[in-house]
Amino acid sequence: MKVLVIEDSRTSLLLITQQLAAMGAQAVAAADGLGGLAAWASERPDLVLLDVVLPDIDGLEVARRIRAREATGQWTPIIFLSACATDSDLERGIAAGGDDYLVKPISEVVLAAKLRAMQRIAAMRNSLLETTRALDEANRELLRLSAVDGLTGIANRRQFDATLESEWRRSARGQSPLSLLLVDVDCFKGYNDRCGHLAGDECLRRVARALVEPARRPADLVARYGGEEFAVILPETPVEGALQVAEALRAAVLGQAIPHPTSLAGPLVSVSIGAATRVPVAGQPATSLVTYADKALYRAKRGGRNRVEVAASVAPLSLDLSRGVA
Ligand code: GH3
Ligand code: MG
Ligand code: MG
Ligand code: MG
Repeated sequence: MKVLVIEDSRTSLLLITQQLAAMGAQAVAAADGLGGLAAWASERPDLVLLDVVLPDIDGLEVARRIRAREATGQWTPIIFLSACATDSDLERGIAAGGDDYLVKPISEVVLAAKLRAMQRIAAMRNSLLETTRALDEANRELLRLSAVDGLTGIANRRQFDATLESEWRRSARGQSPLSLLLVDVDCFKGYNDRCGHLAGDECLRRVARALVEPARRPADLVARYGGEEFAVILPETPVEGALQVAEALRAAVLGQAIPHPTSLAGPLVSVSIGAATRVPVAGQPATSLVTYADKALYRAKRGGRNRVEVAASVAPLSLDLSRGVA
């Protein structure tokens, strides 16, 4: 234990230093307030024994400055030393940031006891800090996990919902187009039935990895919407851009070349994609974008799967002039 003794009386300093040495503590000495502050900063002691009356600034001021300079989470126990301590001296010492008071001449037994008490408090405080740090870390990890899909490691439905809402509002403010792609694995029930659910899970992981690549703008979000369905949010993306990304996604999944023994769409695992682009209109919910994309996806399935269907960007749903891109 390193103890900084700030004391201008040579006799008193010598006595305390000897007592500390007898207890096995290392003593660092300073003869005035400013010297004490400098030693506190450079030596990082575990405890400060601080005389009240000093030749330059008094002990109360030294204590105040130490407390003001301590970083958050840092705390050095301070024990005042005084020749005569009244109740109000004690009160002022504690108010200045001190933790305890000792009356000179100091009894070796009392000094040893106070040192032990301060060490105990410091140890408790450190373990509390460590627990708090571990809790912070756990909270950060929880927050991360609450946004991630357990099977594929990409964003989950919860993050998708939150992002769609915020991007919809952002698009409304800026009157910019927001695009959404709904991606559904073709004939996946058959894949599971023939290859087994574990192979099905691995297939979904590979599809997810393939989908993450082409949507590469920082604001783009690829999420698992549920089951074998994925959703891609493309902020500030007009219909042409959405179509381009959708085609790239479709090609990326095919590019995985995962054999599909029972697909109606071809020999490999493929996806159908419904795309919708809207500039939000006042009063329209974000989920309307999902409805538009869903209708387009349905058309892609009906049209033979392994294809992209896109809803027109501004016309109302009933007047959609959709076009298919095989
Ligand atoms: P379509 O081409 O019309 O989309 O046909 P489909 O068979 O893909 O569609 P359907 O909705 O009938 O079946 C989806 C299947 O996806 C049903 C379910 O067994 C499977 N599935 C959903 N989630 C998971 C999962 O997490 N792991 C696995 N292995 N299979 C899943
Ligand atoms: Mg003095
Ligand atoms: Mg489905
Ligand atoms: Mg499907």
